[in-house]
Amino acid sequence: MTMIYFDNAATTKVSAAAAAAALRAMQELFANPSAAYRFGVETNREMEAARTKLAGFLGVKPQDLLFTSGATEGINHAIKGIMSCSNKGGRILYSAAEHPAVSSTANFMQQFEGCEAEVIPIDSYGRIDLAALEALLQKPTQLVCLQLVNNELGIIQPVREAAELAHAHGAVILVDGVQGFGKIPFKISDLQADAFVLSGHKLHAPKGIGALWLSPKLRCRELIQGGGQEKKRRSGTENMPGILALAAAAEEAFANAEKRKQQYEAVRNTLWEYIEANIKDIRLNTDLANSAPHILNVSFAGTKSEVLLHYLEQQGICVSAGSACSTHKNAMSGKNQLLVNCGLEDKWTTSCLRFSFSAENTAEEALTVGRSLQSAVEEIRLLML
Ligand code: PLP
Repeated sequence: MTMIYFDNAATTKVSAAAAAAALRAMQELFANPSAAYRFGVETNREMEAARTKLAGFLGVKPQDLLFTSGATEGINHAIKGIMSCSNKGGRILYSAAEHPAVSSTANFMQQFEGCEAEVIPIDSYGRIDLAALEALLQKPTQLVCLQLVNNELGIIQPVREAAELAHAHGAVILVDGVQGFGKIPFKISDLQADAFVLSGHKLHAPKGIGALWLSPKLRCRELIQGGGQEKKRRSGTENMPGILALAAAAEEAFANAEKRKQQYEAVRNTLWEYIEANIKDIRLNTDLANSAPHILNVSFAGTKSEVLLHYLEQQGICVSAGSACSTHKNAMSGKNQLLVNCGLEDKWTTSCLRFSFSAENTAEEALTVGRSLQSAVEEIRLLML
């Protein structure tokens, strides 16, 4: 049985170019980039070339971009580093659609560091309520955290508007760009972000590499102390295989952006049109006109996400019931927490599936998934009557 992989928002296959770049770093450019001899200097030069390339895609200066182990580290660095520069305590706002990397870190700061953390409400498609944000900002706030694209529903958040509100009230904004980088066009200056994170493994680079951009105007303490790499902002010997692979993967994403977008849309639309035409009593949880093209989320009333997921798995189809990171939380209640936060009824929160695409997926695969889904929903509904 050939596998159909529709879980690219969880992670992606490493591309041939990214794998070749990583292999070169491991077997040829294996010097420590801090070493003083020529081999080290050459390795360092390649690392800086990768940084410059990535900075170019974001429209920022390379010296403001740090390599990290991924977005979770970047988010921890930014939240903890920014809040530790503010006088005692402080207040953090984050949206009800944020990834646990943000919400758990904000809650940690509340529990152990005397900060206050409050949630910005969202609508039924996961979009933040800007009026509610403005109301929350009436109380002194240091930091607003908002994702660019939601990982479960695909909604593109009004980041620039939120940034302008934050700035007007003396706060800074951290943008979680993980699901937006390489998927929708933007530069950091369009977003008016003060800090921005991205992750390689959502973009066909390996797991364990990411980047954090910090505005040169921002005060942010380092998270990891040690040998003083990355100009003392992130100690630890640099992950050269990851760094070169990330630059190679980003280069491919930007060179093929339009082609990839069309492919995501072709696959997403084929699947959605099949579902809409053939399965009743469903809710489209993705606001298609205002979302990134690689994510589609649908609920099927009278079924259970986990049961659907395993039925599809038996047909060689990989999809997800929510974000991979909240699998345990969701499994306990049977409800998708994000859809609960969107204010949806139980029949929708317990029966959603997320399909997420890469440019390697095809419309034929979408039809195969649509047909399997139709039988799965019919069978499960009969069993659950
Ligand atoms: N933020 C979002 C929106 C994500 O989708 C993910 C991925 O799971 C993360 C943060 C965490 O990224 P990483 O796995 O690089 O730590």
